[in-house]
Order: sequence, then structure tokens, then C-alpha cells
Amino acid sequence: MMRQYAVFGDPIAHSKSPLLHNRVFLELGVPAFYGRYHLKEPSSLLERFHALGLEGANITVPFKEVAFEQCDEVRGIAQKIGSVNTMVKEGERVIGYNTDAEGFFQTLEGKIRPQNVLILGAGGTAKALAMIFDLHQIPVTILNRTPGRLKPLAEQGFKTLTHEEFAPNSYDLIINSTSAGLSDDSLPLPAPWLESLLHSGVLAYDVIYGKTTPFLRLAKAQGARFQDGREMLISQAALSSLHFTEHHFPLSTLHSLMRLALPQ
Ligand code: NDP
Repeated sequence: MMRQYAVFGDPIAHSKSPLLHNRVFLELGVPAFYGRYHLKEPSSLLERFHALGLEGANITVPFKEVAFEQCDEVRGIAQKIGSVNTMVKEGERVIGYNTDAEGFFQTLEGKIRPQNVLILGAGGTAKALAMIFDLHQIPVTILNRTPGRLKPLAEQGFKTLTHEEFAPNSYDLIINSTSAGLSDDSLPLPAPWLESLLHSGVLAYDVIYGKTTPFLRLAKAQGARFQDGREMLISQAALSSLHFTEHHFPLSTLHSLMRLALPQ
């Protein structure tokens, strides 16, 4: 029987996840299909999951915290992060995982061993990245436009800065995890501040994929190395796919198939 998977989000039409997961299912002969679901009512996430007869799902903006709340059990780093991007049915129970953090970290391999990281933004993604750096004992500072979202991170012991507290410092990895540049042409920080931070020797990493954001354009102009979110998208999806295919295939195979599925 055909197993069903889906990605839940709002909006969802832009999601590349079906492209990635269906390629794996097709190429590896897994009898499964992966679709998109435009969820409007967060409280009904788990109910929809069951009503659609899903075996697994991915969760994207803005439902990752909701997924964390609704899963029957949450495993691994997702517990620390407080957000879930992968749901897997195990018997009658639904287990939640977070593959964003590990997926992101794997993309740094062979590129940089960061000594001092600056994360721009303090949303769900920023939290996931901060946790994985902390796990690897890499110093990280989180800078956000508004103080509200920084508070829980500061309470967990992270170094946090509001825009008012910003002072130039030396970072070798600067990550834009804000949605600035996603559907507009804005920078996550005022240009003069970014110009003081971005130079050769720095890796500028934007988690947004599929476009060169103003942040990456500026990094390029400043002579910094730069990377968009494509590899992260593939890495987190490949880790989710490990769960969906019950660890029957090597991660490297899933990774290669997904890379082929996503045009540069
Ligand atoms: P959230 O909504 O949780 O957080 C958004 C953050 O962006 C907040 O800190 C917010 O700051 C900040 N922000 C928004 N607009 C601006 C702006 N104009 N200037 C400065 N700061 C701004 O989003 P997520 O963390 O879930 O997602 C963030 C981005 O990451 C999205 O673009 C998403 O597509 C991308 N993403 C990519 C992945 C990949 O695989 N490549 C995986 C997951 C996410 P404030 O608190 O001040 O409002």
C-alpha cells in the first residue's frame, strides 16, 4: 500500500520538500508519496496528520513550535530547541524530531570550523542553530531587532544583543536566520554595521534559499565567502528521509538523490 507523507505550513506553495522526498521514494522504490498541506488552523495539526492517514510529515513556518507541543513524544535535540520539523508515526504514536539543527551543522563540514559565530535573528531557526553550536561548544552570539525573542535565549545562557547593544566585533561565521530578504529587499542589519562585520576571512551564510538575498550580495561585495540555504534544505530533508525510510538507506544516498532533484 502507498504510504503518504506531507509538509505542513502557511504559506506552503513554494515548498521544495515534495520534490526532494518524492525523488528518493521513486528512485529507491519506496511505495510512498509526499504532498503539501496548507494548514490554516495550528490547533488541528495532529488531527489533520491522522485524518490524512500520514506515516510522517515535515513542518515548516509557522508551525514548528505547535508541532513540538502536539507530538506524543519528542526526541533528541528537538527537546532542547522546543521545535519540531519532522513527525513520524511509530505504532499509534507520533514522534517529533528536529533535523534543521543537525542538517545545518553538516553543511559546515569541510568549509569552516567556526571559532566565533554571530546569528542574526532569534526565531525558530536561530534557536535551532544556537543549540547545535552550543552542543559543539562553539561560542555564539545572537543579535535580534526586538528584545522580546532574545529573552528566553538569554535565560538559557546564550550571549544575546539587541540592535541598541550592537558593537562591531570579530566573527568568522555570520548567519542570516531572519526572514529579511525572503520576500522583500531588506537587510537584516543596517548596511554600515554589516560592512564592518563582513570581509574576507568571514563566511556569510543565509538560510534563505533559491535567491541571492541583499545580505549575500553585500557579503560578496565585501569580499566575504558566502553561501545560501540550499545545502541546508537538502541536509535537513535527507535527515528527515532517514526517518521516513526507516534507516534502510545510507544518508549519503538520500543526500545525492535530493541534490539531483533540486536545480542549482
Ligand atoms: P521566525 O518567524 O521564527 O523568525 C524570524 C526572525 O526574523 C525574527 O528574529 C525576526 O525579528 C527577524 N526578522 C524578520 N524580518 C526582519 C527584518 N526586516 N529585519 C531584521 N530582522 C527581521 O522564522 P524562522 O526562524 O522559522 O525562519 C527564518 C528563515 O529561515 C525563513 O526565511 C525560512 O524560510 C528560513 N529557513 C530555511 C531553512 C532551510 O532549510 N534552508 C530551514 C528553516 C528555515 P523580530 O523578533 O525582531 O521580529
